[in-house]
Parts: sequence; C-alpha cells; structure tokens
Amino acid sequence: MNNIVLLIEDNDDDVLVIERGFKKGKIANPIKRVVNGKEALDFLEGNPDVGIDLILLDLNMEVMNGFDFLHMRKKSDRISRIPVVVLTSSHRDEDIDLAYSLGANAYVEKPISPKEFVDVILSIEDFWLVLAKKPR
Ligand SMILES: [Mg+2]
Repeated sequence: MNNIVLLIEDNDDDVLVIERGFKKGKIANPIKRVVNGKEALDFLEGNPDVGIDLILLDLNMEVMNGFDFLHMRKKSDRISRIPVVVLTSSHRDEDIDLAYSLGANAYVEKPISPKEFVDVILSIEDFWLVLAKKPR
C-alpha cells in the first residue's frame, strides 16, 4: 500500500483544489484529510503504523492551529521526521520565521487563483513526493 499524505486543512475549497492537483499529478499517495492540528495529532498517535510521506499544513485553523501542531510535533521523534510543508494564505514575515523555527520543512503561500494553486501543488508533489528521499 502506498504511503499517505496527511492534509491538515479546514477550508473545503482549498481541499478540493489540492485533491485536483493530486489527480493531475497522478500521485499514487492517498490523501488523509483532517481539519485541525488536534485531529492530526490524534490520527498520528492512533495510527503509528501508517506510512506518511508528507504533511501539508494550513496555519489558520480552529481548535489547534498550524503553529501549535508544529510545536507538538517536535515532541515525537517519529512524527518530527515526517516532512511538513506549510501551505497558507499568510505571507507575514513573522509567520514564515515562526514556522521555520518550529521545524517546518518548507513554507508556501497559497495562490489566489485555483489554476496557479494547482500548479503549486504539482511543484510540491514533484519535489517532496518524487525527488526528495523520505525517512523510514
Ligand atoms: Mg485555514
């Protein structure tokens, strides 16, 4: 079975665009979507044997936002090895700095136009799911 991509995103429209990007890129990894950092931690802790190649992380979410998720992720060796790409509409310098300080592996701004958004997803797939070596 293919490893999954964990998508932590509260916006349904963004999820649709991201899924379109996965279809277009013919990416075999199934997407598991959760709506906030808390749900993501529950999933990661409750399913330690599920292989995960990449985490796509929104920042602005109810219950537990992306920064708090990054902070909690550091406490687990297993979870902190999974690459995290922050995908957000925020382009604030403080957010970018904080995300990297908390261990994000990349920070990408969501384009406004859906077409550009799909292209960004294709680039992320090419690098993180095809080119980059994954930890075991
Ligand atoms: Mg959001």
